[in-house]
Amino acid sequence: MLPEEVLKEAADAVVDYQGDGLSILEIPHRGQKFDSILEESKELVKELCELQGDHEVLWLQGGGRMQFAMIPMNFLGDGQRAGYLDSGHWSRDAIQSANVFGATEVLSSSKQNNYSALPDLPASFPEDLAYVHITTNNTIYGTQWNGLPLSEPPLIADMSSDILSRKREYDKCALFYAAVQKNVGPAGATLAVVRKDMLKQIKRKLPAVFDYREQVKSKSVLNTPPVFAIYVSLLMLRWTKSKTISVLEQESIAKSEMLYNEIDRNSVFAPVVKVKDHRSRMNVCFTAATKEAEKRFADLCHARNIVGVEGHRSVGGFRASLYNAMAPDAVAQLVSVMQEFEQTAT
Ligand code: PMP
Repeated sequence: MLPEEVLKEAADAVVDYQGDGLSILEIPHRGQKFDSILEESKELVKELCELQGDHEVLWLQGGGRMQFAMIPMNFLGDGQRAGYLDSGHWSRDAIQSANVFGATEVLSSSKQNNYSALPDLPASFPEDLAYVHITTNNTIYGTQWNGLPLSEPPLIADMSSDILSRKREYDKCALFYAAVQKNVGPAGATLAVVRKDMLKQIKRKLPAVFDYREQVKSKSVLNTPPVFAIYVSLLMLRWTKSKTISVLEQESIAKSEMLYNEIDRNSVFAPVVKVKDHRSRMNVCFTAATKEAEKRFADLCHARNIVGVEGHRSVGGFRASLYNAMAPDAVAQLVSVMQEFEQTAT
């Protein structure tokens, strides 16, 4: 979701950006206008993530999945091992990509629970790992880490589905990244924030487009960047700053609690994630007692104009995604439809 004011400003810029007759879709990517967009957006990321100056902000392409590949390409050398916390589909995908370039060690996994809980954290991670990879929010299963683990090896975090939704120790990460289409913007751009000292750890000779050093050197315009997606992300970053991360976090707590409380109370529904401390504030997953009840609830949602609440095909049931731009009122509406459904179902 994107806030209406962001959509309107983006729509105006498509017709005429800054009043001189050129659309945002037409401006050159090596001109002063786009330079200012890049500059301001990078500064806003640093400010919102409270970074102290040790990190470089990159706008890239290829989504989360390309980061799954770039990370081991750059940081997993021959004969090295990288540690992964296996908390679901996206972690597994990241592990598979890393296996192409080197050895991985699954430090802990919640596969045995069908990923409906977070994996247990080991007391410590082996010190000789090239890095440790964590997925902070598990979009499909609806689990989320509240904090980041202490890690001797460099910590790398996939924050695709919860970046900027809460205060986090972003500074603790050697690298964090997000496909921006959840909390930061439209599809098409990827944010990667890398600590400068990591650039000296790159293990391979790589084509420039996959090499973080080259991306840093060329200030995210190594090749033609997705200008519009980055521009809309800048509008979202400005919106995020004006709301503030702490207000967004308070709203996120309120929205997710409202929904989890209803799921726990309502006799028709059950939460996918039973351990309260493991529950995601971003993706709330729940089921109904029978397939037939699920079908009827889906129909009622459709009739009440609530869209996009079907669960991922690997989990089933329902998933309400409560990203930053989702208004609390919309969650209240879903809750009231759940109550209406309970009354008719019992
Ligand atoms: N990581 C997480 C946590 C995700 O939720 C997703 C996509 N929803 C991805 C990675 C993959 O992103 P993309 O589709 O941009 O490659």
